[in-house]
Amino acid sequence: MKSKVISAQEITEIVVGLNRMARNLWWTWNQDAQELFQELSPRGWQNLYHNAVAILHEVSEYELRTRLQDHEFAAHARRVLHNFKAYMEEKDTWGRQNAPALHQNPVAYFSAEFGFHETLPIAAGGLGMLAGDHAKSASDLDIGFVGVSLFYREGYFQQALNQENWQTEYYTLLNPRNLPIEPVLNAAGDPVICSVRIAMSQVSFKAWRVNVGRHPVFLLDTNLPENEQHFRDLTLRVYGGDSTTRIMQEILLGVGGVRMLRALGYQPSTFHMNEGHAAFLTVELVREKMAQLLSFDAAVEATRKECIFTTHTPVEAGHDRFSSELMSYAAHKFAAQLKLTHQQMMAFGRVNPADENEPFCMTVLALKLSRAANGVSELHGQVSREMWQCLYRERTVADVPIGHITNGIHLMGWMKGPVRRFWRRKVAATTYAKAGTEPGATGWQHDPNVPFEKEINSAEFWKRMEDPNFVTDEELWAFRYKLRRELIEFSRRRLLLQGQRLSHGDFIAFDSLMNPDALTIGFARRFATYKRAPLIFQQFENIVKLVHDKHRPVQFVFAGKAHPRDDEGKRFIQHINHLSKHSELKGHLVFIENYDVHVARQMVSGCDIWLNNPRRPLEASGTSGMKASCHGCLNMSILDGWWREGYDGTNGFAIGDDSHAASTEVQDRTDSENLYKVLTEQVIPEFYNRDATGIPRQWIQRIRRAMVTLVPQYNTWRMVQEYTRKYYLTK
Ligand SMILES: *Cc1c(COP(=O)(O)O)cnc(C)c1O
Repeated sequence: MKSKVISAQEITEIVVGLNRMARNLWWTWNQDAQELFQELSPRGWQNLYHNAVAILHEVSEYELRTRLQDHEFAAHARRVLHNFKAYMEEKDTWGRQNAPALHQNPVAYFSAEFGFHETLPIAAGGLGMLAGDHAKSASDLDIGFVGVSLFYREGYFQQALNQENWQTEYYTLLNPRNLPIEPVLNAAGDPVICSVRIAMSQVSFKAWRVNVGRHPVFLLDTNLPENEQHFRDLTLRVYGGDSTTRIMQEILLGVGGVRMLRALGYQPSTFHMNEGHAAFLTVELVREKMAQLLSFDAAVEATRKECIFTTHTPVEAGHDRFSSELMSYAAHKFAAQLKLTHQQMMAFGRVNPADENEPFCMTVLALKLSRAANGVSELHGQVSREMWQCLYRERTVADVPIGHITNGIHLMGWMKGPVRRFWRRKVAATTYAKAGTEPGATGWQHDPNVPFEKEINSAEFWKRMEDPNFVTDEELWAFRYKLRRELIEFSRRRLLLQGQRLSHGDFIAFDSLMNPDALTIGFARRFATYKRAPLIFQQFENIVKLVHDKHRPVQFVFAGKAHPRDDEGKRFIQHINHLSKHSELKGHLVFIENYDVHVARQMVSGCDIWLNNPRRPLEASGTSGMKASCHGCLNMSILDGWWREGYDGTNGFAIGDDSHAASTEVQDRTDSENLYKVLTEQVIPEFYNRDATGIPRQWIQRIRRAMVTLVPQYNTWRMVQEYTRKYYLTK
């Protein structure tokens, strides 16, 4: 084949295309695109923490143009850009067929946090991850969608442990130039500025646009020179500060969010409040309607028709409550705008409107001003109906208007790179077998005729895991070994970095840390106390014995952040770290600092068992366990949240049964006993029950069952369709 020089114009097109694509999070769930950036700068990929935008800054334009003279690299870039364009322009989509009305008038989805990727750390936990996954699937399905949140320029905190193993928080300033975000500008090229009344000030804000595939998510930002410093810092940190900061952030999110959408020309058909944080948007909608001369009652009715609300936790502290004084200080303008007295305004956030001592609850406001509301699992729906029956005294619990849609995860985004490749090969094999064809010139990996994204969420594809010839036991076991080794090597690297802050005596021989053959149990989540991170170590002596069993060893990987003001959670972290460094568990229990999306992905893929032991029924859904199944990691969990629906006796392990004791003391004790019981009676024997060739057939059968029953169900591809049918399209 004759080589020719690639024209300068084509190179320019590719350079422009790559810069545009790096600012669309689509690449974070496309393997080929990630590999392109990785190839461009392998060290940068690691050191810049998988940040495509930063890599394109780090690599000079001259270098990039020169590299594109390499035909193979240029072909790779062209292919990725072609696929990106095809994704963005695809017309034959679920949304166009099933929800065309939303293309005119989209769903506006408001959330105080969004978890998209490790390079944009503006989420504190599962609520944000869910919002990010919701947005990604809204794009994949192509329903009309726009997101609203805040731009926290210091994001969520980074975690480090001091000499006493006490969590300390530090913050790093995010540089917008190096993030996949763009300023929102008007036709003249100036920032679009809106303002909102907070306390005695008129606070201005601008917005950043995050491109999530086909849709934008707008992040509001008060860091403008015209604002007083404390208002510039309003959007500094996720859930930073006290309740005054909190109420002000929520006024900005709710009221400011609606104003920004209007300034940009949006006429949403539905406002979806993801948790009560966003509920002040209803006040702005009522105000707008009254400005158009609707009566107050008619404006409230019309607003209710436009709003839906998802509640996310039965934990009391998870529901914002603001005192009457704080409301009248921060939000005094609301009552005036709606021509209400302060007490009438307060009544919208009160279970008992006449009770002047009752604070203003954002969940109550959201429930009163929504046409529909839901919890995030079947059990959580039930618990929420009981919890909020007080608002609907004339109804029985069963008739309280709160339904449920069980959470999911965005599969493509959570799958680890090698795992995406593994499944792509299987989808390709299925495609060729069906069509009686062979891979084309590009091979199965890049064949555009392989409908990977569509198949990977489908029940038909995962059903094939019942066929031992489709994927053999041997292949699955090799797959598990590869993923476990990757986690162990990742842990060793991380521990080495963490160890540099410790005294020399604390160093462990890192290369022998953890055993690649041992049953590996993972636990990673926010260290909220109801999640009971140290529960398993209540049986300390027993666990030590299991860990040191020569033939059937067990080991643990832990990670998670405690909220900066949660000392109890910090004590849990301290306790586990103490055990990992100074007890017989040393070397068999590791704690990885700074839990985030990347750490989560390593852990849910590399562990054999994903442990979840919340105090039932406080885990509304939980999503990290859903990320495990496509990697062949099995859940061992209390029957709370999603697992109560997901578990069928064959596809993982249950701790205890479908009930819980009334007292927390009894609950903690029985759960810890049941945990030990299932671990020693089922999990360990099954994992180590090998046949003559060394394969744990029964274990692998369980992995197959998890893939058949869980992967196609607990994903946001299913979840967003359910929201669309059940809530977005029904008024
Ligand atoms: C998935 C995820 C969560 C949510 O996990 P839960 O199972 O709901 O506790 C929190 N944080 C990160 C970084 C995650 O990836």
